[in-house]
Amino acid sequence: VSEFIYGIDIGGTTIKIGLFSKLGTLINKWEINTNTTNFGKNILNDIATFIKSNEVPLEKVIGYGFGVPGPVIDTTVLNCVNLGWNQVDIKKELSTVLQNENIFVANDANAAALGETKNGASKGFKDSVMITLGTGVGSGVIIDNKIITGSNGAAGELGHIKLIHDNGLPCGCGNNGCLETVASATGLKNITCHLLNDSKKISTLKCSKELNAKMIFDAANNMDELAITAIDRFTYYIATAIQIITVSVNPEIVVIGGGVSKAGEPLLNKIINHFKNIGFSSVKDTKIVLAKLGNDAGIYGAAGMVKV
Ligand SMILES: [Zn+2]
Repeated sequence: VSEFIYGIDIGGTTIKIGLFSKLGTLINKWEINTNTTNFGKNILNDIATFIKSNEVPLEKVIGYGFGVPGPVIDTTVLNCVNLGWNQVDIKKELSTVLQNENIFVANDANAAALGETKNGASKGFKDSVMITLGTGVGSGVIIDNKIITGSNGAAGELGHIKLIHDNGLPCGCGNNGCLETVASATGLKNITCHLLNDSKKISTLKCSKELNAKMIFDAANNMDELAITAIDRFTYYIATAIQIITVSVNPEIVVIGGGVSKAGEPLLNKIINHFKNIGFSSVKDTKIVLAKLGNDAGIYGAAGMVKV
């Protein structure tokens, strides 16, 4: 009898591999390095080799779910700059070697959003949105317990809402003024540097290569006025994105995750306060909470896609 599920989160530096029970309980997890040389040609082989060398025999595996850092349609990744991939059909590449047709693939932010509904902050809610505030801004929309991908795999790409209309900074996507340029860890630094260059306010912060989100939060905690202003703008932009997504898909709950969310309740409360001011009346009470699963959200969500 098959009784195990693998949830695999392929990132640009490491691949997280989770072994789950049929009921979705995490049994064990591992990390292997992502070999991005030679256009990431070895990545799937490395995963298959690891799984075949594991003590669980292949015939005991119900199926495999994958999260990847790029847009996905069905089981095909359209492109993954971080991995060096162009189009890769993961199911086609792995079904023979893993002797399994039960293979599912999602964008990593979408997988993380699903993961939080399986065992994290949005557990028990069928309609949710997760926003991941890291180096960039990722997000996923879950409706009726399913990931919404859209026709080009770009549904829920909140990081690329055009929010700044005058003198927006260039975004990795090629446009200017995307949410990601002001609402990620880099975005907070951008806002702070802009304020430092623009105002005569005295601050303990300096715009330098070393400046990071944690330093800005720490300065705000020490009542640095400029840092407080920067975080106020930063959280306003995040609230604006929540304003847009709540009137687009009307989720029950919005989950805030990613490295920046380590700033915790003070960050969350500022986002909620801004949202209360700008949210549309009938969605003003949408719950906004911090993510719970941290880096494991991706493997939970990947495993959660597998049909049992
Ligand atoms: Zn963009």
